[in-house]
Amino acid sequence: MEFDTITAISTPMGEGAIAIVRISGDDAYQIADSIYRGPGNKRLEDADSHTIHYGHLVNPKTEETVEEVMVSIMKGPKTFTREDVVEINCHGGIVSVNRVLQLVLSRGARLAEPGEFTKRAFLNGRIDLSQAEAVMDLIRAKTDKAMNVALGQMEGRLSQLIRRLRQEILQTLAQVEVNIDYPEYDDVEEMTHRLFLEKAYFVKTEIEKILNTSEQGKILRDGLSTVIIGRPNVGKSSLLNSLVHENKAIVTDIPGTTRDVIEEYVNVRGVPLKLVDTAGIRETEDIVERIGVERSRAVLKEADLILLVLNNSAELTHEDELLFEAIEGMDVIVIINKTDLPRKIDLDQVKQIGAKQIVSTSLLEDQGIDDLEEAIASLFFKGSLELGDLTYVSNARHIALLGQALQAIESSIEAIEAGIPIDLVQIDFTKAWELLGEIIGESVQDGLINQLFSQFCLGK
Ligand code: GDP
Ligand code: ZN
Repeated sequence: MEFDTITAISTPMGEGAIAIVRISGDDAYQIADSIYRGPGNKRLEDADSHTIHYGHLVNPKTEETVEEVMVSIMKGPKTFTREDVVEINCHGGIVSVNRVLQLVLSRGARLAEPGEFTKRAFLNGRIDLSQAEAVMDLIRAKTDKAMNVALGQMEGRLSQLIRRLRQEILQTLAQVEVNIDYPEYDDVEEMTHRLFLEKAYFVKTEIEKILNTSEQGKILRDGLSTVIIGRPNVGKSSLLNSLVHENKAIVTDIPGTTRDVIEEYVNVRGVPLKLVDTAGIRETEDIVERIGVERSRAVLKEADLILLVLNNSAELTHEDELLFEAIEGMDVIVIINKTDLPRKIDLDQVKQIGAKQIVSTSLLEDQGIDDLEEAIASLFFKGSLELGDLTYVSNARHIALLGQALQAIESSIEAIEAGIPIDLVQIDFTKAWELLGEIIGESVQDGLINQLFSQFCLGK
């Protein structure tokens, strides 16, 4: 394919020891050579591919030195974009990296649009669409596990699964054609129905399996939205502090990728918790009392997990009851705090009121945090899921398409069972095949592709 040569800053803006300006396209080498001055008048065009070179960048009009650099050169097609790629490593900092970028632009490269490098990798056939999207997820990955999911997807695990399913569907459609065209038996109609039904159930089960991972996948990617509630003085702020201090706050720092704005996340045994930031927590304190049960219910509905804190050394109050009412039906862990003080709370009453998971803590004495973390992790993984075994689907577009494909298959099952003519069943099967194809970009229109890639960070 014919493309012009593009460039962008590929590392986070702002501080950072090193910044990278990436160039991709036919003119990448020539542009780099025109501004690079290495020891012994070395020319990058003559050097081996996939090597790195120390030197200086100059303004070719004046031969004035602009930057001290390391330049990586990579001949296509063994590159991220499959094109010739040059990466200029320069000092971090907005001024110096921008100077390098301007210099490259002045030599004829065009500023890349957001996601354009990845888009080229896709258009040049190096990766499929779900892999391209995984690149974006990778950039946003907030824990090691989330990163593994994205990596797995990038390596094509989801793609492989989808391809297998499409193959099954296609084979079934082909087999049905054969049955219709060359009826060797009298009961072709019945045979075809049976074949369709068997395959439809198989595909349905497989899609459901993938979709079942979507909740975990989404949480791994976005974090488990967690709200701490409780009456004043029970220890909510103390809990927040313990969780933040006992666990590494999550910072995304993948070399060579753009760091997006990070919210307050903590990694609890591989589960990323998105704790409402401290200011937010303060605002939601005493939320029931302040804004009433109805509205607080609406606020709390957004949460994936509620940590309800009760005071061990006080009896349950009407306010506690209101809190329980407000969070009915949600994933809740009840924390009975201040166990270092004499017990006044009635545990049976707490259970009666609807607490299923109860953990006792003394945040003052640093007791019980382990148990709490255990409870959070087992709630999330439901005790049965082994991360790594599964391909998690976490991308909203993939989930929507899988849901639609599932619908098409389900409607084919209904049709078969109602004895509806085969050609209608074929339509449903074909539709499912197409929808699954959209996930890996095999039947996607250009407009959608452009929209997808424009969501990427600049420089990717
Ligand atoms: P919040 O109003 O719910 O956020 O409660 P805080 O976390 O601000 O705690 C209120 C008070 O209870 C503070 O003085 C804490 O030091 C104290 N506190 C928190 N946890 C414990 C505990 O486990 N035992 C005891 N004795 N005091 C605690
Ligand atoms: Zn507080």
